[in-house]
Amino acid sequence: MNITVIGTGYVGLVTAAGLAELGHHVIGADIAAEKVATLNAGGMPLWEPGLQEILHRSRHNGLIRFSDDIPAAIRASQVYFIAVGTPEAADGSADLRQVERAIDDIGKHGRSDGVVVVKSTVPPGTGDALEKRLQQKWERSDLQVVSNPEFLRQGNAVADFFHPDRIVVGASSPAACEVMAQIYERLDAPLQTCDRRSAEMIKYASNAFLAMKISYINMVANLCDHLDADVDAVAQGMGSDPRIGSAFLRPGAGYGGSCFPKDTQAFITMGKQIQVPMPLVEAAVAINRNRPRDLLQRLVKEWGGLHRRKLGIWGLTFKPMSDDLREAPSIPFCRLALDAGATVAAYDPLIGRDYPVKDVHLYSDPYQVAALSDAVVLMTEWPEFRQLDWERVMKGRKSLLLLDGRNQFSLEEMKQVTHRWPLTYLSVGRPRLN
Ligand code: NAD
Repeated sequence: MNITVIGTGYVGLVTAAGLAELGHHVIGADIAAEKVATLNAGGMPLWEPGLQEILHRSRHNGLIRFSDDIPAAIRASQVYFIAVGTPEAADGSADLRQVERAIDDIGKHGRSDGVVVVKSTVPPGTGDALEKRLQQKWERSDLQVVSNPEFLRQGNAVADFFHPDRIVVGASSPAACEVMAQIYERLDAPLQTCDRRSAEMIKYASNAFLAMKISYINMVANLCDHLDADVDAVAQGMGSDPRIGSAFLRPGAGYGGSCFPKDTQAFITMGKQIQVPMPLVEAAVAINRNRPRDLLQRLVKEWGGLHRRKLGIWGLTFKPMSDDLREAPSIPFCRLALDAGATVAAYDPLIGRDYPVKDVHLYSDPYQVAALSDAVVLMTEWPEFRQLDWERVMKGRKSLLLLDGRNQFSLEEMKQVTHRWPLTYLSVGRPRLN
């Protein structure tokens, strides 16, 4: 099939590359000319494990190309995936302007009987509104609009494309469902078809539920800190119950990224607009917003204040295996620490410059950061931190405080480390060591 994917960000680029790997002829179209130029030159505008390899293969096979000529890219295909951004608007709702611009381009240039597949996360009813816009503004009753929400996780996006838990398709006609089934026919995944509004709702309801799970275990962790219980044991006991499940029961610095924060906010705003209270989601957001402050308080409690304290940060991105800093908890944490009078040095494997908090000094290895710091705070659980040489971290030191904001290390292994070295280990919802 000939498919144009509009938007080549995390979702669009992975979708475009994945569809080409499935054998379709794909054009990745983006208004960002420099992104397109990078892609056409064989470069990568973003980093995802395995993405470069599959893109390279499809380029070589002539199955994918990129263009910033949106009208031409649309004219060349019959199926249009919309994967543009839907950021948070000032009132908390999803800002749909990028989607509307894409739909107008499709209305103007789309081939007759084309299918529009909305991958961007959009509120229930958006597909209906887009279809109406196509009909009323562009007199295009021949175009069908399908909702196909995306569930990939950054850092694992390529694997998630090829092995999704489910593919959700919301469409009003069997013909559109058939096109979607053909597009994904080579994937071995359950395909759920439903009405378009329900498909759009599934995405928000899923993200809000996951955010609630994270905030719930973070709330429990705060209680464990005060009542001397171990939240890891609690999470294990809870997660063994299949009605609860163990996924997303990991306490830490809170969720970030380009999805959970804006999608929970949009979900709450949807409720507000039609007077349907959303207190569970509101509580999840409030708990999450406090996570950086909760963590910082642990240090304040140790020292009585942060004035002139030297802090080191290990990991800045919102999650490991991703270069994405959007809504990363490290950002408010660093701002709060600087406001409280601390200095901040940081290391992240993928962030060497352009960190949004300008007074944070970036270094190229975790040992340098530790050497400069009174306390190190682990904000992102990069796998390489598992390989740390503690002898090197502790070389020549009389003491060091490590606040593990992701519970990346087990208490067992840290007992060995704190036994050998003058290291005090604090983590989230677990007993202090040393
Ligand atoms: P992104 O910001 O990384 O990428 C969006 C891209 O769209 C940019 O490259 C931008 O230049 C381009 N663009 C904007 N308007 C355009 C237009 N009119 N025509 C062509 N290109 C245009 O966004 P993302 O993270 O890939 O997210 C895209 C959508 O998918 C959002 O709705 C998001 O909520 C949803 N989503 C994201 C994830 C994720 O993990 N990032 C997961 C599931 C769903």
